[in-house]
Amino acid sequence: EALWDPVAGFGVTFRTMFRKVFTEEYPFEKKPTAPRFHGRHQLNRWPDGLEKCIGCELCAWACPADAIYVEGGDNVDGADSGRFSPGERYGRVYQINYLRCILCGLCIEACPTRALTMTNEYELADSSRASLIYEKKDLLAPMLPGMQEPPHAMQLGATDKDYYRGLTGAAAPADGGDA
Ligand code: SF4
Ligand code: SF4
Repeated sequence: EALWDPVAGFGVTFRTMFRKVFTEEYPFEKKPTAPRFHGRHQLNRWPDGLEKCIGCELCAWACPADAIYVEGGDNVDGADSGRFSPGERYGRVYQINYLRCILCGLCIEACPTRALTMTNEYELADSSRASLIYEKKDLLAPMLPGMQEPPHAMQLGATDKDYYRGLTGAAAPADGGDA
C-alpha cells in the first residue's frame, strides 16, 4: 500500500493544478474594499479649502484607545494673516497614533463638523514607530480645484452665518473632500 501513497499524493497535486485559484496576488493585485471599510482617517475641507476641524477634541475624548492628540488654536482675521477654518478655533496640532488605533470609528461619530471621516486605505504598516504617528499634514484631504491652501479669508461668506448659509443654499458648491 505504501508504494501507492506517492502516486495518490501526486494525483491530488495534478487535480489541484486545474482547479480555480483563490489565492490573491497581493500586493501586485489589490482588490477594492467594501465601500464602508474602516481605513485611514481623513481631515476634510470646505469647498474653499478651509479646514472643517475646529480643534474641539471631542474625537480624542471619544477614542477608547487614546490614539488621538489635538491642540486647538485661535483663528485670526487680517490682511497679513488668515484663518484655517471658519469659526473661532481650528485644529493647530492633530495626530493619530496608528500603533494604538483599532479603527473602530467612534471618533468619526463624535466629530460635530464631519471634519473627521475614514478612507478605505488599509496599507498602514511601516518599519518605524514614529512613522505610524500621522500628523495633520498626513491626514488632511487633498486640495481640489477651486480650493486655496489655508490660511486665508473665508471665501464663502464674510461672517460665519453667511459662510454656512452659502454652503447650505441651493447654489452652494459641492462639499469637497468629504469621504
Ligand atoms: Fe480611536 Fe477608534 Fe478613532 Fe482609532 S478609530 S482613533 S481607536 S476612536
Ligand atoms: Fe473636533 Fe472633529 Fe476636529 Fe476632532 S476632528 S477636534 S471632533 S472638529
